[in-house]
Amino acid sequence: MNNQQRITIIGSSNIDMVAQVPHLPKPGETVGNAIYMQSFGGKGANQAVAAARLGGNITFVTSLGNDMYATLLTEHFKNNNIDTHYIQYSSDTSTGTALIFVSDDAENCIAVAPGANAELSIDKIQSFEAAVISSSIVIMQAEIPYETIKEISLLAHKKGVKVMVNPAPAVPIDLDFMKSIDILVVNETEAEIVSGLNIKKDGIKKISQELSSKGPKCVVVTLGSKGVYCLCHQKEYTVDSFKVKAIDTTGAGDTFCGALAIALAENEMSIKALQYASAAAAISVTRMGAQPSIPYKEEVIKFLK
Ligand code: ATP
Repeated sequence: MNNQQRITIIGSSNIDMVAQVPHLPKPGETVGNAIYMQSFGGKGANQAVAAARLGGNITFVTSLGNDMYATLLTEHFKNNNIDTHYIQYSSDTSTGTALIFVSDDAENCIAVAPGANAELSIDKIQSFEAAVISSSIVIMQAEIPYETIKEISLLAHKKGVKVMVNPAPAVPIDLDFMKSIDILVVNETEAEIVSGLNIKKDGIKKISQELSSKGPKCVVVTLGSKGVYCLCHQKEYTVDSFKVKAIDTTGAGDTFCGALAIALAENEMSIKALQYASAAAAISVTRMGAQPSIPYKEEVIKFLK
């Protein structure tokens, strides 16, 4: 391990199998002229790749299946300078897979088989506890079992490790878990589901106050092309998004989280940290795909000049 503070990301890895079709098939129909694309996804993997490309000392904890994708993904993580030492390999299930149909008029239809992601259960924590407690910050999302992320959060908090949680896809979070979170990052939908409030009726400030009253020291609400709102230790920060030509916003939130972790691993919340994360996310929306669109450190520095 180098001198940099370790950032540990614990979450999902998926293989996205995408068929671009003229129209979505109806039940029983075969659409014969699809174009096939395959890419690496999963919110955990996306955030790990983002933080690694931005120069972090990244350890990624994920669970892969007993198939060729486990080998492919492990190599991919290594090629992105990610420490793969704590990756778990399940012997009796497949690597997480998303089967996606996208039609020419941009409608989609998705089936996700969590596979090995669902096997990252609470009893596995012992095997990667050493990485968690030797980190300056841990980051988790909600594509692995809830009990696992809650237990890791409680453990990290007890050991004085900063905890960042991005509850995506949106899940309600119980009070004990909330109390252990330092930085909660949510988009508008997640903000509503976690707080139980309504953005239009209650407003972002009230929702953030409600969320922070449950424990998180900083609540960060990403607002897509409208930028970011953050309430941290009662102080408000707002950052506009960078004006770019967006062509594909897939993975913008994951790039934002990975970049924010880099900015916060050794520093407190600031406008600069939020701008850095927004810049990395803005670059990502100008390119196609989730992981292929994630920028490297040098690109973000150049973009911010
Ligand atoms: P996704 O699920 O697509 O990964 P998300 O819903 O989690 O994204 P968003 O709030 O859409 O997250 O976007 C995260 C951040 O990315 C925003 O706060 C903003 O900084 C940046 N961003 C997103 N869309 C744009 C855009 N069109 N132009 C510039 N920046 C953008």
